[in-house]
Amino acid sequence: MVIERLIKEKPDGIVAKAYQLAKQAHNGQVRKDGTPFFSHPLATAENLAKWHLDEASLAAGLLHDVVEDTGITLQDIKRDFGTEVAFLVDGVTKLKRLKYQESPAMTAIENMRKLIFALSEDLRVIFIKLADRLHNMRTLDALSKEKQKRIALETSEVYAPIAYRLGMQNLSGELQDLSFPFLFPKENKWLRDHIQELYLEREGYLKRVTPLVKKALHAHGIHPLAIDFRAKRYSSLYQKLTRHNMDVNKIYDLVALRIIVENVRDCYGVLGAIHEMWPPLPGRIKDYIAMPKPNGYRSIHTTVIGPDKKYIEIQIRTHAMHEENEHGIAAHWLYEQYKIPGLHHEKASRLTKELKWVQQLKRWQEKYQDMEAQENSEDFLDAMKVDFFKDRIFVITPKGDVVDLPAGSTPIDFAYYIHSDIGNTCVAAKVNDKFVSLNHELRSGDLIEILIQKNKKPSEDWLQFVKTIHAKEHIKAALRAKDARLRDKHKATKVEVRIVTQNRLGLLRDISGIIARSHFHIISMNTTKQSTIKFPIMRIECEIEDTKKIERLMLKLKALREVQEVSYKII
Ligand code: MN
Repeated sequence: MVIERLIKEKPDGIVAKAYQLAKQAHNGQVRKDGTPFFSHPLATAENLAKWHLDEASLAAGLLHDVVEDTGITLQDIKRDFGTEVAFLVDGVTKLKRLKYQESPAMTAIENMRKLIFALSEDLRVIFIKLADRLHNMRTLDALSKEKQKRIALETSEVYAPIAYRLGMQNLSGELQDLSFPFLFPKENKWLRDHIQELYLEREGYLKRVTPLVKKALHAHGIHPLAIDFRAKRYSSLYQKLTRHNMDVNKIYDLVALRIIVENVRDCYGVLGAIHEMWPPLPGRIKDYIAMPKPNGYRSIHTTVIGPDKKYIEIQIRTHAMHEENEHGIAAHWLYEQYKIPGLHHEKASRLTKELKWVQQLKRWQEKYQDMEAQENSEDFLDAMKVDFFKDRIFVITPKGDVVDLPAGSTPIDFAYYIHSDIGNTCVAAKVNDKFVSLNHELRSGDLIEILIQKNKKPSEDWLQFVKTIHAKEHIKAALRAKDARLRDKHKATKVEVRIVTQNRLGLLRDISGIIARSHFHIISMNTTKQSTIKFPIMRIECEIEDTKKIERLMLKLKALREVQEVSYKII
């Protein structure tokens, strides 16, 4: 037990103090399953320790239930542990008051907002909540059927996706697996009856081929740190089966072989050595090292045809990647804490990038908070569902940056993600060097190039197909600005400018340039040649908001060498 070891090392530290206080405060309380209540906060803190969280988080984990369930107050905690621990405990206590319900919509939205707020204020509150939930899910059996279902649903729909987005996919998967039997009891039974044997069979097969893998790697001078098996989780297996007519033979990664090596070069070395021995299945090589998943996941996956023509999915990664894949953002926490200059710079900047979506959520929630109407709140929830909980794709900018967007996003969504000006002035898009329509659905791995035209305005049609709320809002704002300008035009004065001028190549462009720079809006331009005058006459009809500017424009036009005569009249 990490916590007990830590207490021995630092008997006067805040973790030791929190342990004592929580144990005392919960003394005599028992959980539904009959165990002493203190086992729960202790298990919560153990989870946090496994994710390498800091001491304040561990102390808060131990104390997370005392304010609600014992006589200890938040002031007591503040006095004895300081504001940081008190802040974390308070955050978790507030989150606990959320009761997830499928309906009414408003409650769900309200809860979501509080969650987002906690997310953006201090991620450690969420880590503690996740650690708390993990232990509660592991001990859910003792509760009533109704409670089991509610908690399992909330875990599956809210907390597991949050863990996933934080890059803690192991935790996310475990939460989904723990929820699964409560949400899908029949399906769970079916899987147990049909899959268990197959799992064992697949594992036996992989055990038999492992020595072959080792031998092949050694022949290439690669010495893996570890080779193990990862059985596919029931919850994700079930989802996959529903897409494959429940045909288990179509699932190649029922049990995957996982190879952990020292460095990135070895990862590709392993891939080469394996492909030399067993032919890869076309289209099944996924290089998440070159192109990490949006949540930061890095690994190489390949499926090969092994001995007896059986498929083997192989996952290759370094030890550091493995750690990060398991712990996600939590794994970065330690580095952030100590802020070691330079050393962990790359990790710190990845962390900030990953947090960008949290900041975005925070901005939306602030925006939507002011809108009282139910209608808008539903928009918000829809947006949340699309942008936060649904599948994501990742596409690439011409500079090679990876952009994380909801599935179904279009070039317009991409353009607005890059910058609102790019979105507003977008006229065409190239995907993998081919022109596509602006409502083209982007796919992961697409390289996107946006073509813009200055002063172009977004089109109202775009609202029909854009996916991100970010794009929608910018389009609406730009359309509103356009409307306002159109209204202003009614107040604008129409002027006809008459210019008698010699002709010259590029003169027309110079004249229209001068007019545009003076903020005159050109409506029409035409040139006539009258037999009575030596030079052609140019008539330009334009709109202006400020009539005082006309005289200045006249002077500027007269300054052009070819211009003989300039006059104007207000229409
Ligand atoms: Mn708890």
